[in-house]
Amino acid sequence: MTQETSKKVLIIGAGPAGLSAARVLSESGYSVEIFELESQVGGMSKSVELFSQIVDIGPHRFFSKDKRLNDFWHAHTNGEYEKVSRLTRIFYNRKFFYYPLRGFDALLKLGFIESALCVLSYCKAKILPFKGDSFESWVANAFGYRLYSIFFKGYTEKLWGIKGSELDSDFAAQRIKGLNLYEAIKSAFFGNGGNKHKTLVDEFSYPKKGCGVVYNNMKDEIIKLGGTIHCDVEVVGIKTHNKKAVGITTNKGDFSGDIVISTAPFRDMVLSLDELDSKTKDLAKKLKFRNTILVYVEVAQDLQDSKIQDHTKTINDVSSGTSLFKDNWIYVHSKDTQTGRITNFANWTKDLRCGKDSAILCLEYWANDDEPLWNLDENTLGDTAKRDLLESKLVADSRLIKNVAVLKIHKSYPIYERGYKEDLHQIYDALDSFEDLYFIGRNGSFKYNNQDHSILMGLMCADKILGKNCNLWHINTDYDYQEGGKSE
Ligand SMILES: Cc1cc2nc3c(=O)[nH]c(=O)nc-3n(C[C@H](O)[C@H](O)[C@H](O)COP(=O)(O)OP(=O)(O)OC[C@H]3O[C@@H](n4cnc5c(N)ncnc54)[C@H](O)[C@@H]3O)c2cc1C
Repeated sequence: MTQETSKKVLIIGAGPAGLSAARVLSESGYSVEIFELESQVGGMSKSVELFSQIVDIGPHRFFSKDKRLNDFWHAHTNGEYEKVSRLTRIFYNRKFFYYPLRGFDALLKLGFIESALCVLSYCKAKILPFKGDSFESWVANAFGYRLYSIFFKGYTEKLWGIKGSELDSDFAAQRIKGLNLYEAIKSAFFGNGGNKHKTLVDEFSYPKKGCGVVYNNMKDEIIKLGGTIHCDVEVVGIKTHNKKAVGITTNKGDFSGDIVISTAPFRDMVLSLDELDSKTKDLAKKLKFRNTILVYVEVAQDLQDSKIQDHTKTINDVSSGTSLFKDNWIYVHSKDTQTGRITNFANWTKDLRCGKDSAILCLEYWANDDEPLWNLDENTLGDTAKRDLLESKLVADSRLIKNVAVLKIHKSYPIYERGYKEDLHQIYDALDSFEDLYFIGRNGSFKYNNQDHSILMGLMCADKILGKNCNLWHINTDYDYQEGGKSE
């Protein structure tokens, strides 16, 4: 329903959260203006053209059990999506392990003795549980310390840059809640009666031309409804008067409005508030973000050299018709590689490849601002990725590598360091004293959101502005578990 209003909403960031809020508010008669740092919308969920194909910013699977959210997302695919079968295995000791565990697969690949030791380690954790609220103790209690160290420790510590014992258990509770070794083994041998854990969903909807299509379509709708999107504009601060949002400051001048919604990094925007007390600002200064480095590698598939092809086959599965792994992405737990996850875009949709034969792999690395890895140049990062692919034997010969490109994403993960929650909630409480000011989205509210959670925050922020009673701080990655529904 359209309601007449002359209220102006300024939105910082054109990612899933900002665009979703803008889409609903522009339809409801608000005057919406979005300010986006980059030249393209979609934030970390955009798709880009590379080597004459289409790629996402790492793997981007959309999944939600919420009907409104699903309908909203699907409506913005314009019907141009496919159901993609999910395959995401763990690469450990040069072997691929199905996740969730498949009884005999894991048994054969780990070996009988190692498997028995894993079960014993799980029993030990049941009798003498690990104490504390760290990621390590949470997972070791759910799977046993031995399986934790094989399948969780390496990837997690690479990703977060801190020990599993220093990471808050929230990360595990939100991402692998409800799953433990007993459930995994039960499901491996006896099935799960159709009630799948979210991380295990076998199929997901995916726009034929990349996940960014949804956000380009949202942008078009917003503009049709009279909204404005300013790209290449950096917002440097939020202005308030008597603790009411009145505008923003950007590198291209000041803009005034009645309502401000921020999806830009929480810490920066909170620190820009002149009317916020210094004690709360000190807490905000403690919040940290982790950066991601994506190295895209184009790999030839039409192998002329049969010697190379045979060698590749010994490591990789060839059932996808390519000589590379057939997974959408793999988690890399091997100690001899620096990357933690590799996506193979050739295994998503045919349209992403735009008629090309080669496959584009995306290797993920993570670093803090002050780590040498973050400051390496493109050539050195490209060489690191090539070395990872060749030494792990995921790619058999350097002659198969055609092109390399690097994309650095500053502040891609809010770090859930142990104890962060107490500080964060104090900041949230202090921000509640401000009027017409909303902080939503992954970086925007310091929550480890997926697209679905960020879209939901955008929709609910719009609901709140339209007069519904909802607490935005309560929306988090736990949301769909609270619904208690079954996956599709
Ligand atoms: C490698 C990787 C893999 C992922 N895989 C998945 C997946 O499989 N499934 C899934 O659902 N999600 C996945 N995600 C998460 C998903 O990308 C995010 O949850 C989603 O994009 C968050 O949306 P958002 O709007 O909250 O924030 P963002 O996408 O970060 O959008 C925020 C926008 O604000 C802009 N901005 C920032 N600062 C300013 C400023 N000062 N001024 C103006 N504009 C500014 C940014 O440029 C950006 O466009 C993944 C993320 C990464 C990095």
